[in-house]
Amino acid sequence: MRVQLYLIGVDGCWSARWSIALEADKVYWGRKAEERRKVQGGRKFGGREREESIVMHVWRTPLPLSAAEEAAVRWSEENGGRELEERAALREFVKAAQVAGGIEAGGEMNVDKGNGRTERVVFGERGAGQNGKNIGFVEEECVRAVAARLYGRAALLSEAQELLAAGPPACQAVAAGGWSALAPALQWAALRGLVRLRCAVAPQQPTASPLGRLLLPAPMRRGRPWRRRCLRCGSGEARMNRTACAACGSSACAYCEACLTMGRSRECGLLIHGGGEAGLADAQGAAMSGAAPGLAASRAHRMHAPAAFAARWGLSPAQQAAAEAALSYVLPRLGGVRHSSSTNQNAPSRWAPARSITHHSASQPTICASLNQQAALSTADIPDTQPITSSHTRDTESSRPSSAPSVSQFLIWAVTGAGKTEMVFPLIEAALSFGGRALIATPRRDVVLELDPRLRRAFPGAAVVTLYGGSEQRWEDGDITIATTHQLFRFHERFDLVIIDELDAFPYHGDPQLHYAAAKAGVPGGAVILLSATPPRAMQKSVRKGQIGCARVPVRFHRHPLPVPQQIRMPRVAELLAKHKLPRLLLARLTSSLARGAQCFVFVQQIRHTEPLAQLLRTALPGIPIGATSSKDAERPQHVLAFRNREFRVLVTTTILERGVTVPFSDVFILDADGKLFDEASLVQMAGRAGRSKDDPNGRVYFFASTSNQSQRRAIAQIKSMNREAKKNGYLLPQ
Ligand SMILES: [Zn+2]
Ligand SMILES: [Zn+2]
Repeated sequence: MRVQLYLIGVDGCWSARWSIALEADKVYWGRKAEERRKVQGGRKFGGREREESIVMHVWRTPLPLSAAEEAAVRWSEENGGRELEERAALREFVKAAQVAGGIEAGGEMNVDKGNGRTERVVFGERGAGQNGKNIGFVEEECVRAVAARLYGRAALLSEAQELLAAGPPACQAVAAGGWSALAPALQWAALRGLVRLRCAVAPQQPTASPLGRLLLPAPMRRGRPWRRRCLRCGSGEARMNRTACAACGSSACAYCEACLTMGRSRECGLLIHGGGEAGLADAQGAAMSGAAPGLAASRAHRMHAPAAFAARWGLSPAQQAAAEAALSYVLPRLGGVRHSSSTNQNAPSRWAPARSITHHSASQPTICASLNQQAALSTADIPDTQPITSSHTRDTESSRPSSAPSVSQFLIWAVTGAGKTEMVFPLIEAALSFGGRALIATPRRDVVLELDPRLRRAFPGAAVVTLYGGSEQRWEDGDITIATTHQLFRFHERFDLVIIDELDAFPYHGDPQLHYAAAKAGVPGGAVILLSATPPRAMQKSVRKGQIGCARVPVRFHRHPLPVPQQIRMPRVAELLAKHKLPRLLLARLTSSLARGAQCFVFVQQIRHTEPLAQLLRTALPGIPIGATSSKDAERPQHVLAFRNREFRVLVTTTILERGVTVPFSDVFILDADGKLFDEASLVQMAGRAGRSKDDPNGRVYFFASTSNQSQRRAIAQIKSMNREAKKNGYLLPQ
């Protein structure tokens, strides 16, 4: 889309912005000026002579959104925070618009020439700058309804339309009215600081190295093209594609291919971030009238010890201890969260991308702090917008209870089969009792579907929303949201408690977009709980350094120790297949497991080994039904089901079944355990398939390999250390 770029000056304090509905801005600034005129009552303001109150220079030609954004940021970078004389401000404005808009500046800049390109509007003289009919004005009630509906969302324009269309009547009317109703409503909400209108793929100032800054003077740096960054998923220039675009007229309009499956995020498209203090108040009101107990009343819960929340869920001693530790982290963050501002000053870590990148835009409704400090100017009718300038950050820590720990996230490191879902119930209960919202993000859709009924049963009074690709609850608001990880792209600072399940698993692991999305889904200063049986080493290091809080659950829910893998020498699978011969030791162990009635998982590295190995096993173990599956297997669900139902006694598989599949009474055979596709985490996960049920807690696990490598040794050490810890803490059942 194209938008209107303008410069607004209040008492020599200028800022550059853009608008999707300029008439709304004109009414807004006209009213601002009117208030000032009334308050001043004709006397000169601030002891200085002012010819007029508020002046606007509009760039006549609508610019592609990203060009307008870039011009506004360029202008602020070079002039923001200084008091400027009008001609100087305008001269810089023309320059910024020309550079960003790709208009050849050429020769000496001429203000008069610039004036021809801009329209000057003066507000504050009686009736001046007003269009009389209030075109562009949107009723307060409507603005607030729209803002409340968008609260905590990160929505592309089309998504915002769907969201509003599925909302209360006031929002439906806006959505039904098309662009001419939607644009002013969104623009008003933005002017009021209730939502933020962003460029979905935003121009980023090139960051010059200190040396570059020395060698390249500012005017020359100015000429360098700005890179693009997707504000929805955080992807940079490397993930941008460019196409000719009818919407903005550009021949190379960038869009983000990284989050394309969630709709096209492009540089001339809007990304709407719902938020702001007033939006928060509305959302809070909604939460209080809903199922969750009232916020004020629930303040008393802060007096409760973590144990009080953890008590009623029937947890095992190890689960209870971990839940209490997590609650000590969560509770202080819920208490102060309603007062925290939108700027997170926690040191960013690898797991929490800096939020500050989302808070610097010059397109925000920014008026100079000097204006805001004139308390007499703020009225109940049109409150001042928040003074969020690039240099202005508020201290979030001071607004939170001093007991809030300094770690930004908390890891629950629970062994496979520990019953982690039960452990997060008390955390969710705590969040709801503070009137907060909770999110559980998990990589797999089947886990989402499985959690849904369990949470509904556990929290009958709460609204539970389940989100995945194609979910029918797509635009519903809930107290508890369960979502697949990609759905996180659609949220912005919404949840007080964010729980991320299996953070080390595909697709989450190694995907910076999902880390970015997870970090921005929670409110700043809120609680982030990470769940994993096998946290990555970098995270384990952060735990040791005290950067991330952590509770270990070293024992399974049935309170038996984890089966410790046995290492057995064996040639590589490729060799066995070439020779059509299986080693005696492997067959002996398999026969023994089958004899005791166990189901046998046989893990291999390569997809191409699964079926040939199954064939070889069928020959060697006549009469035993043996199946094979992999990510390439079209009938995988049926094959897994057949294995679960004991129609197959042996299943040859790749790491595709390393987690998530629980088959009672099973033993685990890992072949080529020294292969490079099986790392420590993967080995621990595969080993975790054995001994899951309380009727057969002592399953068997074998590492078959030609060599013993570090991954195997570390996996075994990790399992043994968990068992030792469980024993030391008295978590194991007496033998
Ligand atoms: Zn993206
Ligand atoms: Zn475009």
